[in-house]
Amino acid sequence: MVCRSPSARRLNCVAWICLLSAGGGGSALGRAAEPIVLAEDLELYPVVAGVWRHVSWAKLPGSGLTPANGLVVIDGSEVALIDTPWDDGQTAMLLDWADREKRATRHVVVVGHAHQDCLGGLAEAHARGAESYASALTVGLAKRHGDEVPRHAFTDTLTVRVGKRRLELRHAGAGHTQDNIVIWLPDARVLFGGCLVRSPGARNLGNPAEADPAAWLATVERLAALYPTARIVVPGHGEPGGPELLTHTADLARAAAAGQTAD
Ligand SMILES: [Zn+2]
Repeated sequence: MVCRSPSARRLNCVAWICLLSAGGGGSALGRAAEPIVLAEDLELYPVVAGVWRHVSWAKLPGSGLTPANGLVVIDGSEVALIDTPWDDGQTAMLLDWADREKRATRHVVVVGHAHQDCLGGLAEAHARGAESYASALTVGLAKRHGDEVPRHAFTDTLTVRVGKRRLELRHAGAGHTQDNIVIWLPDARVLFGGCLVRSPGARNLGNPAEADPAAWLATVERLAALYPTARIVVPGHGEPGGPELLTHTADLARAAAAGQTAD
């Protein structure tokens, strides 16, 4: 399927997006606000002041058109991408927007895990002088895969400052992958769970290739204990929600670990 323009894409893609367990780009929390459409395959949804959810789409073999979430955090002249979009072109458009509209001059990228929906545009960000942060596991996997490699590694936790804002990075355990991390914005009480957290409409754990359901359950229970004040929880794909997304993901992981699906 080819989506030719933002409006055409919106109409044409509705059916596709509804078919995806990941869900679409319309934010439950940002429903009242219109997205900023940067391209037919790249949109921004406001989350809280200074924080947007970027949604990019890629055609994946066997899965069709697939949306992925990341965040853009801007404070003063500094911008952080929490996960890049799928590719360099989308990442260039996103950074152009931050530079042009928000006058960003310092660029930071946080990579949630070593998959294309997290680091597919890292080469473009590096070409623009971005600093990049990821877990040591992600750095090792990116090297092994021959992907662009994040430049700063941490083991358990790391705090990255973007203007006055703090991004708290944590490897809380395995789940979707061994290396998946979460990012906590304490001032806004926003938890970016990435692919460790499933959207409200998800009926299973998603791509099972590297998943560890038993560890996933323990990890997501740890997240609920670590971030009891979370107000907004953003999954790697699909709609954001509140802390109930952690419970929902735990239920899916429990079912998968027991050899069932939640369908
Ligand atoms: Zn992934």
